[in-house]
Amino acid sequence: MSTPLVKLENVNYYYNRGKPSEVHALKNINIEIPRGGYAAFFGPSGCGKTTLTYLIGGIETENTDSGNILINGRDLRGLEKKELAVYRQIGVGIIFQQFNLLPSLTVLDNVALPMAFLGIDVERRKKEALKLLDRFGMTKYSARFPSDLSGGQQQRVSIARALSNNPPLIIADEPLGNLDSENANKALEFLKELNEKDGRTIIMVTHESWSLRDARLVIYLKDGEVIRTDEPKNKIDAKKSLSEHFYKQLYPESPPENLMAQSLSSMLARGLSGQEIKRFELFLAERLKGNITSEHFIDFLDQPFKDGGLGLWKQRAIKISETVDELAHNRKKVEDVYHELERNPEVPLYEEISKMRDWLLSSYSGTLDEIGRVRFDEAVEDRIRNVISSEHFCRVLELPRKDFGVGLSMSAIRGISERLESALTGKKYQVLH
Ligand code: ADP
Ligand code: MG
Repeated sequence: MSTPLVKLENVNYYYNRGKPSEVHALKNINIEIPRGGYAAFFGPSGCGKTTLTYLIGGIETENTDSGNILINGRDLRGLEKKELAVYRQIGVGIIFQQFNLLPSLTVLDNVALPMAFLGIDVERRKKEALKLLDRFGMTKYSARFPSDLSGGQQQRVSIARALSNNPPLIIADEPLGNLDSENANKALEFLKELNEKDGRTIIMVTHESWSLRDARLVIYLKDGEVIRTDEPKNKIDAKKSLSEHFYKQLYPESPPENLMAQSLSSMLARGLSGQEIKRFELFLAERLKGNITSEHFIDFLDQPFKDGGLGLWKQRAIKISETVDELAHNRKKVEDVYHELERNPEVPLYEEISKMRDWLLSSYSGTLDEIGRVRFDEAVEDRIRNVISSEHFCRVLELPRKDFGVGLSMSAIRGISERLESALTGKKYQVLH
C-alpha cells in the first residue's frame, strides 16, 4: 500500500493547556486519508473539525503533546520553520468558511497572492490567476473587490485562490455554510471535479449531512473524538451508513415510536370500531386493486352496517373515496419510481418527489422554506429508497433544524407519514430487500 497523503496517529490537542479554561479539543485521533481521496469531517459545532484542519493544514503545530501528523509520511512537527512555510504555500490549499479574502485587493490579486509568496513574476501570476478565475466563471469580476461580490462569488474566488499554487491537498472548512442551496450545490460540484478530474485529495468539513454525498471516506467526530469512519462505495451506501449513524448516535436508547403502524385505514376511518375497520379495510383493498369503482366504494361506505356497509354519511364517504383516489394516484407514481430504480438504482428522484410533495404535505398548514424543503425531500427520498425506516423518517421531520431535521409538529408529521407509508405499503420491500 502506498503512503497515505494524510495520516494522524494518536493526536491529542489542547487549547489553553494547563489553565482553568483548558479544552481537550482533539482526543487520540487516528485517521488516514489516501492520495486522491475525498474525505469529509462530519459532526456538530464544537466537535473539533476546524482544529483538525488547522493541524493538517500546518496552521497550528504547537500544543499537540502527543501523536504524529504525517503528510506524505513526514511529520509536520518535525519540519523546520522554512519547510513548514513551504508546505503551507504549495502543499495544501485551504478554503475557509469566512473565505478570508483580503478586502483591499482585487479579485485577481487575491487569487494571485499565494503565487507572489513563491516569487513567481507578475505577468505569469496574472495569467495563471485569470485562468483559475475563468474556470469558475469569475473572469468578469477580476477587477472587482471582494465586498462587491455575493457570497457564492466570494466562495468561488476563495476556491480559485486555494488552487493557485497547485496543491495536491485541498481543505474546505464548512465551504457551504454561507451559501444558498444553489451555490452550495455548485461548490460541491467544484470540489467533486477537483477530486475526480484534477486528482486532488479533498478534505471537506461539514455539519450538514446532505453535503456528504460525494465523500468516499466519512469521519464522524463528536466531542473531539472520532466515533466512526465509513467508506461509502456509492451514494446509497453513503445514505445508509449515515442513517445508521444517526440512528445509533442520536437516539441510542429511545425505542422508536411505531408510527409505521398508522396504516391507511386508521388515517381514513378514525372513530370506527374494530369490526368496522376490518370491513373497511376489506373494501379499501378491493378499491385499491381496482376491483370496484369509486361509486361502488362510496355506496358501500354509505350503506347501513347491517346491510354490509359502514353507515357513514354520504359526504364523508365521498371525501374518503377522494382521498383513496389521490392515494392510488400517488401510489402509481411510487410504482413508477421503483421501476426506474430497478433499472438504475442511482437515478435521482427529486423530480418525482416534487410531484408528490404537495400531496404529502396536505395535512401541514404552514409552508416550508428552502432548507426545510430540501431536507424534507431528502427524507422522502431516503424513505422511498428504504434507506431509512418510517420511524427514522418521522424523527428527521420532527428534529429541530439545528439537528439536521425539518422541525415539524407531530400532528403534521403523522399525516405526512401516513400518506407516504400507505403509498409505499407492499412496495418497499420488493425492490430494495
Ligand atoms: P468545530 O470546527 O467542529 O466547530 P473547533 O475545532 O472550532 O470545532 O473547536 C473544538 C473545541 O475547541 C470547541 O470546544 C471550541 O470551543 C474549542 N476551541 C476552538 N478554538 C479555540 C481557541 N482558540 N481557544 C480555546 N478553545 C477553542
Ligand atoms: Mg469549525
